[in-house]
Amino acid sequence: MDDNLLDLIPLVLRRQQMTCLDLTGGAPELHLGFRSLVHQVSELGIEIIDRCNLTILSEPGQEDLADFLAKHRVTVIASMPCYSAENVDRQRGDGVFERSLNGLKKLNSLGYGSMDQTLPLHLVYNPNQPVLPPPQAVLEADYKRELGRLGIRFNRLLTLANMPIQRFAKELERKGSLSRYQQLLEQSHNPENLPGVMCRELISVDWQGNLFDCDFNQQLGLSINGSIRHLKDLADPEQDLNGMSIRTDQHCFGCTAGSGSSCGGALQP
Ligand code: SF4
Repeated sequence: MDDNLLDLIPLVLRRQQMTCLDLTGGAPELHLGFRSLVHQVSELGIEIIDRCNLTILSEPGQEDLADFLAKHRVTVIASMPCYSAENVDRQRGDGVFERSLNGLKKLNSLGYGSMDQTLPLHLVYNPNQPVLPPPQAVLEADYKRELGRLGIRFNRLLTLANMPIQRFAKELERKGSLSRYQQLLEQSHNPENLPGVMCRELISVDWQGNLFDCDFNQQLGLSINGSIRHLKDLADPEQDLNGMSIRTDQHCFGCTAGSGSSCGGALQP
């Protein structure tokens, strides 16, 4: 994302009276404009979420990142596919579990993950297989028990369903299980999840400023309906996203199946 677009973000947040900036990407912290943006938005009193790859906290040159996030009261959400070293390293590569634990310990030492939630730290789990995630509260208790034994604390575990798109869809297709997984999602559709799907309350922005109803639509190149198409359109306070229709397709069953799934975890208790 270039400097002109970055400069638009605090302006749009203010003019559209948005309440949260959720930053994601391969590693958003590595963008040269990341710290300036976080600083500006925190001055506005708007919640900031960093979807943080924990290993970044030990990258050369990023040793002060955890302190920076704590100082600006940034909520940290980090992917942690399992509480066992063996499973994490098998999925993510040798040594990733250890480096992730070190990142979590560093965050804990700054006050992240405490009961008072002044510095919220949430972990994310999504199954590696074509199945729905287990009940969030049950898995959260398991994570808290097992990571607690290693001296780690966090606030919430967010369970997400795997979307049958892009790399995961290709992998399932190769194994011949894509249509079975899609069928599972459709058969598990729960209409009670519809009021809570995340596209009703967030807008996704790509690195070129194009708007999408959610990150999944962004990955699929399904741009937003209507005349408001770009971040710069939202700099006009007269432009209103409320009431615009949402582009849905087969993959949306990934959000509505079972207990539901969103960037904030399960939609049902
Ligand atoms: S995948 Fe569909 S239901 Fe889920 S957030 Fe995106 S548009 Fe909404």
